[in-house]
Amino acid sequence: MKPVPDSRGYFGPYGGRFVPETLMAPLAELTAAWQDARRDRGFRRELAGLLATYCGRPTPISFAARLTDHLGGARVYLKREDLCHTGAHKINNAVGQCLLARRMGKARVIAETGAGQHGVAVATAAALLGLQCRVYMGTEDERRQALNVYRMKLLGAEVVGVDAGARTLKDAINESLRDWVSNVATTHYVLGSVLGPHPYPVMVREFQSVIGSEALLQIRSQHRSLPRLVVACVGGGSNAAGIFSAFVPYRQVELVGVEAGGRGTRLGEHAARFAGGAPGVVHGTRSYVLQDQDGQLSPTHSVSAGLDYPAVGPEHAFWHDSRRVSYVRVGDREALDAFHLLSELEGIVPALESAHAVAYVARVAPRMGGGEAVLVNVSGRGDKDVVEVARIEGVTL
Ligand SMILES: *Cc1c(COP(=O)(O)O)cnc(C)c1O
Repeated sequence: MKPVPDSRGYFGPYGGRFVPETLMAPLAELTAAWQDARRDRGFRRELAGLLATYCGRPTPISFAARLTDHLGGARVYLKREDLCHTGAHKINNAVGQCLLARRMGKARVIAETGAGQHGVAVATAAALLGLQCRVYMGTEDERRQALNVYRMKLLGAEVVGVDAGARTLKDAINESLRDWVSNVATTHYVLGSVLGPHPYPVMVREFQSVIGSEALLQIRSQHRSLPRLVVACVGGGSNAAGIFSAFVPYRQVELVGVEAGGRGTRLGEHAARFAGGAPGVVHGTRSYVLQDQDGQLSPTHSVSAGLDYPAVGPEHAFWHDSRRVSYVRVGDREALDAFHLLSELEGIVPALESAHAVAYVARVAPRMGGGEAVLVNVSGRGDKDVVEVARIEGVTL
């Protein structure tokens, strides 16, 4: 069997490196440095040490007893990425890439951010490792996420507003790529999900694969067998790729990725790339993309900012076409219901992104047998979403 991805970063017809000539050399340098680091025992030991003593790993698996009772079917287990430092899985990748930047002799990191979660994770890791940090953020996103802008500044990062296009995530990515081209000798670009040109999709998946390798051991020890089903939400796809990667070889384990169904099925009302998208090239990689008839990126909508992106990681496109993973959609309302359900029954307020995965479990677990286990990745905690949920539900704080 051919390795996936191949040496040029292709997952079947997806992935690759669709970038201007000026980025080819930096991407080749990054690939070589990462390949070297991942084989180096010293680097692996240092990363594992930081994950344990700084990020709070391993995160536990919690058996959701009351949710299981309530649903009356399969036993539900939660992988608790909400317990990571900074509140979500994003720190795993941020610490990994910042450590790599330091090893490459780069004193400066840059990052793009939409809602601010990845920006905060990178600003955190940069502070930890003494790296200079600049985060690009659309000015519309800055306005909506003022708290995260200030949080990044507290952490010592410089936040630069991008006043182009729709002034959101994709404009911030374009600006980050421009900065990187001009400053590549001193700067590493910390991309936040399994997106972008090779090696980012495979490198970010590998930094997140700690979720799956821990979960595989934990579920075997706590449930005494493999789960029947593993569920994760899919924005760019990094938390899902991280947990799925350990289970992909076990054909008897069903894998389901949950996309944002938003408020409807028309283009612009959701971010369900596999339901409404088609193959195309965005931000340096080929994958499924929500686009109009002229190939322009479509606007998207989701109640959760982290799932609100028109493209998806190329490995997910490959898993979709090869049918190893199924992709489903969960809408805003169903996700909000699951947000309340997990809070009330388990004392865990999930991120709205993670609530999409919980909602799918609530849909299917009642139809499954009581001896079967469902493992759901709780990618982050919901503190960041409390004010927004109150606003949507008309609660005055
Ligand atoms: C950013 C984010 C996501 C979406 O990103 P992926 O790369 O798809 O994992 C999901 N959950 C939380 C809590 C996030 O912060």
